[in-house]
Amino acid sequence: MRIIARQHTCIGSGQCVFTDPDAFDQDDNGIVQVIRPVPENAEQEALAQEAVSVCPSRSISLIEE
Ligand code: SF4
Repeated sequence: MRIIARQHTCIGSGQCVFTDPDAFDQDDNGIVQVIRPVPENAEQEALAQEAVSVCPSRSISLIEE
């Protein structure tokens, strides 16, 4: 699994960082940055899936590799 974030649709709300601060960060403009793109266990995968569900602009997706 890999986390993909679309910066061009991110509105900088920060819910992803609040939900999963080990995987997401925001740049100086508040735009999402993925700092750990590949979850390493089931707990991290669950947090990434939660981040997908809370993002108000649907800017986060998960792909299977
Ligand atoms: S939750 Fe979505 S809109 Fe908010 S900062 Fe994260 S990616 Fe951007």
